Amino acid sequence: KEEAIKLRIHHGSKVTGYDIPLPIGSFEDLISRFKLSKVLLQNLIHNNFNDPTAIQSEAIPCSLFGRDLIACAPTGSGKTLAFLIPLVQNIINSNKKISKDDKKLKGLIISPTKELAQQINNQLIKLTENLNINSGYLNKSLASKFRSKNVKSNKFDVIVTTPLRLIDLIKNETIDLSTVEYLVFDEADSLFQSDFLEQTDSILSSLTNTKLIKSIFSATITSHVEELAHGIMTDPIRVIIGLKEA
Ligand code: ADP
Ligand code: MG
Repeated sequence: KEEAIKLRIHHGSKVTGYDIPLPIGSFEDLISRFKLSKVLLQNLIHNNFNDPTAIQSEAIPCSLFGRDLIACAPTGSGKTLAFLIPLVQNIINSNKKISKDDKKLKGLIISPTKELAQQINNQLIKLTENLNINSGYLNKSLASKFRSKNVKSNKFDVIVTTPLRLIDLIKNETIDLSTVEYLVFDEADSLFQSDFLEQTDSILSSLTNTKLIKSIFSATITSHVEELAHGIMTDPIRVIIGLKEA
C-alpha cells in the first residue's frame, strides 16, 4: 500500500472521491487484483505496452471496480488504453455469464471526430485479438446497415461512434442501447462544447441499463464539463494527472 501511495506522489496524480482504489504498479497487478484475462495481458505485451502510464495506473482500477470516473490527463498520456483495458475486461466478464448466441451490445465509446473514433476502434481491435469480442466503428456504411435493419446492435460487443451518427440511429430507433453497461465520452472538452450538449440528453435517455458505468476522459476538464459530469454520474472518482488547469 505504501508503494502505491509513493507511486501516486511520483506520478503527481491527484485523485479525489469516495473509497478510492489503489493505483497499479504494473499490468501484471491486474491479474492478481482483478483476475485480468491472460490473453488481454498478452495482447498488451505483444503491442509493447509494458508498463501503465500515470492515468492508466489510476483509472483502470476505478473502472474495474465499476466506478464512474472523471479523468483528466495531457494529450499523449495514454488515455485510450486507460478506458479500453477495463472496457475489454468488463466485456470478458460479462460474456462469461451468457451463452455465445446471446450476444448483446455492452460498450459504447463516443468521440468528437470520425478520425479519433476510427483510431480508438483500431486500438480496440489490437487489444481484443483472440478474445472473441466484436467491435465496430459506426461509419457511414455501418450506419446505413443499421438503418436498413441489415445489422442489429447485438452483432457487436462495442461500438465506437461520433455523437451525430449515433443520434441519427437513436431517432430512427434502429439501435438498441438498453444493454450497454459501459459508456465512455472521450475528449469531453470538445464533445461537450458545441451543440452536442443538447444531444447528450437523447443519448443518455436511451442508455437505460441501471448498471451503466460512465467515464469521461479529457485533456482539460472545464468547470462546464465537470458540472455536466456530476449531473449524470454517481459518486464519481476524479483523477487529474499533471497540473493542467481548466
Ligand atoms: P491520449 O489519448 O492521452 O492523447 P493515447 O491514448 O492516444 O493518448 O496514447 C498516446 C500514445 O502512447 C499512443 O501511441 C499509444 O500507443 C502510446 N501508449 C499508450 N499507453 C502506453 C503504454 N502503457 N506503454 C507504451 N505506450 C503507450
Ligand atoms: Mg485521446
